[in-house]
Amino acid sequence: MIRFSKVNKWYGEYHALTDVTEEVKKGEVVVVCGPSGSGKSTLIRTVNRLEEIQQGEITLDGQDIHAKNLDLNHFRTKVGFVFQQFNLFPHMSAIDNVCLAPVKVSGKSKSEAKERGMALLDRVGLAHKASSYPQQLSGGQQQRVAIARALAMEPPVMLFDEPTSALDPEMVGEVLNVMKSLARDGMTMMCVTHEMGFAREVADNVWFMDHGKLVETGKPDAFFANPTSDRAKRFLSDLR
Ligand code: ATP
Ligand code: MG
Repeated sequence: MIRFSKVNKWYGEYHALTDVTEEVKKGEVVVVCGPSGSGKSTLIRTVNRLEEIQQGEITLDGQDIHAKNLDLNHFRTKVGFVFQQFNLFPHMSAIDNVCLAPVKVSGKSKSEAKERGMALLDRVGLAHKASSYPQQLSGGQQQRVAIARALAMEPPVMLFDEPTSALDPEMVGEVLNVMKSLARDGMTMMCVTHEMGFAREVADNVWFMDHGKLVETGKPDAFFANPTSDRAKRFLSDLR
């Protein structure tokens, strides 16, 4: 579904991604891990073109994501993105945050968008907070609204970049549970996360990055029990 072929990216002189070649299949959950600065955010951000690439190709269902003539606004509706910072619009209620793109970008009627938005808030356990503003919500609740907002465009793919890193520990579980339920429903997901418990439980494949390279990939059981690269061995032993 998402295919990376010999992807290379530089920030100026700095070679941030080197020859990344791998595939995320439909319905698969991929957890991307690796040390700080290894290129995890850069890689995931190339998938919705928040970052440009200089060489190679990335396709989503066969479509070249970095084609010059790509309609970026339309394309981005196909890739939901949830960041570490929740980035909700502070002056809008939870339900209005969720409904914004369906109304503005897809031209849905307000009533239709609201009905669907309420169903999404219910799905993340927050129907009762629909009219609350972001500052009236906890970090975990804000992140769940951000997930509902990303789902509102019905994207076939969801990208997560450390969605729980900015949360107090007691709120991490509620966000991971929403992500687990999405995974169970067959959503195709790429997740950068340090939550190795989530990776073990939910990932179909783990991708380990170091210095801009995809050093190894594998099923979580094999990766955690028996990483093949020395770098991954060190990374995992540092976590323990
Ligand atoms: P972390 O775990 O800390 O989030 P990461 O694996 O997500 O790290 P990236 O943010 O992708 O790492 O960064 C990879 C490398 O590219 C780092 O060395 C970083 O300093 C560099 N880099 C990232 N963004 C830029 C930028 N806009 N300009 C220049 N260099 C950048
Ligand atoms: Mg990062």
